[in-house]
Amino acid sequence: EVPLLESRHPLVDIFVGREKEIDLITSSEKSVIVIYGIAGIGKTALAAKIFGDAFWYQMSEGDSLDYFAWQVGLFLNSLGYDALLEYLRAGGREERDIFELLLDGVEKSSAKIVIDDLHKCRDERILHLLAFLSEKLDKGKLVVTSREKPNLGLNALYLRLSGLSLEEAYSLVEAKGVNISPEEFVKVYQMTLGHPLALNLFSETYVERREFERENLFDFLVNEIYEKLKTDERFLLQFMSLFDEPLEYDEIKELYGKNVFSVLYSLLNKGLIERRGNLYFVHDLIRGFLSEVREVDEAKFYSKYIKFLLKKNNTRDFLKAFRYAVKLKDEKTIKRLVELRLRRFKRVVQDFSDSYLNVLSTIKDNPYAKEELASIYFQKGFFEKALKLWLEIKDELEGIHKADVLSSLVDVYIELNKSDESKKYLRELEKMREIMNDAEVDFWYFVELTKLNAYLGKLEDALESAFNELGALKRLNPYPELESLVLLHIGDIYIELERYRESLKYYSQALDLARAYSLSFMEHLSLSELSKAYYLVENYKKAVEHATEAVDYFLKVRNYRRAVDALAYRCFSYIALGELEMAQKDAEEMIRIAQSTGYPLGWAGYIALAAVENLRGGNFKEYINIGRERLKGYPWLYEVVLEELSRIFDISSIT
Ligand code: ADP
Repeated sequence: EVPLLESRHPLVDIFVGREKEIDLITSSEKSVIVIYGIAGIGKTALAAKIFGDAFWYQMSEGDSLDYFAWQVGLFLNSLGYDALLEYLRAGGREERDIFELLLDGVEKSSAKIVIDDLHKCRDERILHLLAFLSEKLDKGKLVVTSREKPNLGLNALYLRLSGLSLEEAYSLVEAKGVNISPEEFVKVYQMTLGHPLALNLFSETYVERREFERENLFDFLVNEIYEKLKTDERFLLQFMSLFDEPLEYDEIKELYGKNVFSVLYSLLNKGLIERRGNLYFVHDLIRGFLSEVREVDEAKFYSKYIKFLLKKNNTRDFLKAFRYAVKLKDEKTIKRLVELRLRRFKRVVQDFSDSYLNVLSTIKDNPYAKEELASIYFQKGFFEKALKLWLEIKDELEGIHKADVLSSLVDVYIELNKSDESKKYLRELEKMREIMNDAEVDFWYFVELTKLNAYLGKLEDALESAFNELGALKRLNPYPELESLVLLHIGDIYIELERYRESLKYYSQALDLARAYSLSFMEHLSLSELSKAYYLVENYKKAVEHATEAVDYFLKVRNYRRAVDALAYRCFSYIALGELEMAQKDAEEMIRIAQSTGYPLGWAGYIALAAVENLRGGNFKEYINIGRERLKGYPWLYEVVLEELSRIFDISSIT
């Protein structure tokens, strides 16, 4: 659902001089290069000249670590390194893991990454990440451009860029077709100090023997050019400067209408618009100037742009659209976008929680923003905080939004062990569902009903509503990820009911679906569940087979909790098969994970070791004692482990 931004390098048509800088950078051993200096001085052009083959990441203000990590993850994946992307896809969000995987990927693939305009970054964690990379990077390369000098430690090469030299500057204006004598040019040079963007503008306005205004040379130059523009050129330039990010040619055409090609190229030639791949944009310096003379209807264009972005139907453009809706401060659009998020971009609150949070936090008092903020808090485990917001807005909202809040309330009260409250809101939701006749709301209702029934131990009822979830899903746009999740839940309920054959059936269906849609997380979750079910029907060979795939995957994506779940079934299956060596290895791995993550099921490794030793006729006592000791805080878990083990082993011999 998240497309990889095609890496787009700035186009360097005419490039003059900078030999010293190029030499310094290309001969440097350092893995991190920082080019800093004032706007328009040529940082981007220089980086593009040297690192034309790098992955180009254009920083914008709204970017946060999650978004950055996804983009780099997709890029590394295209180089054959998939661990970061798989980690993110599996729901991994630990900053440490992201840092390590990103480093690992950049190193293993010797990747080159340019981060352009780092000064725009508002997320400190990205800066921490870069400092971390700067300290460790060896084979990979990181290039940063910024207006301010960032602190990336001692390992980086810092290069402050100043204006072009007199000779370089002269060759630049010559290359732009200006016919000026060196003597006269000296005066121009003294004023521009070799600032390439200013020189470009100068080249546009140059008429022989004319006096310049010394103060505000830059504004003077832009103004001079601007005054001479034709109406359609002015209009397009104004239009382009409304947008924070570069626009594609097709976007410009669609939004601007009219015959845009010749106007665009004329602005490009005048140096007012720049090009990056098939993207066009106005340099920040010129944008700043234009914002003072703005005479176009921004609201109209923003609305059009939002529509356009939504047609692209992906998460990144959804988030972008949301940013513009917030700029518009248009409540109706915000409401509509939140509805879209609920129906179509469900994963935004998980995958891009920080980016989304950024956007939402500028309109904190908007009820729809509150609805979404609460979902993010809930997602992050701040239940009370989420609850407070939902209660605040529940009577303000209507329709799908109200239904969303009601089902969220059912959910959060289950988490807080308050089933009476849950029941109350579920009844309200039920009433709404009957009136609304909306498959999405039906689905939410059945999801909550299943959860509540399972929570209350009413398994038959839970099973019935889980099948109703499937029914509702079938009436919605295909959503294979949810469908396989529901199938797994059905399998789980059958396990509880001790109907293992049916569990196998539904787990297998979940697996097939996940494979058909390449949903690797769901695929391996299904494999793990299948391993459990095979264990329960005493098919230990199959249990081992299925668990193995799951273990490898979950270790790779650093989901140690799930890795241990699968390891435990594999370990017990090995015991059942009499493969004690293998069982011992798994048990030791479980213990290692418990030691490093504290996940308690890992301690069951000691109990498995006790069983293994007992079967070997060795001394098992110490193991069982340690196991018991470590699981002391989790008596129910200890019981479950013994119960599962007792299916294949006479536990009275060790307890
Ligand atoms: P910055 O990234 O520092 O804001 P840019 O790299 O965008 O500056 O440069 C501003 C303008 O000057 C661009 O149009 C760029 O093409 C032009 N420019 C910069 N350096 C050179 C150079 N060495 N030769 C020719 N043009 C240059």
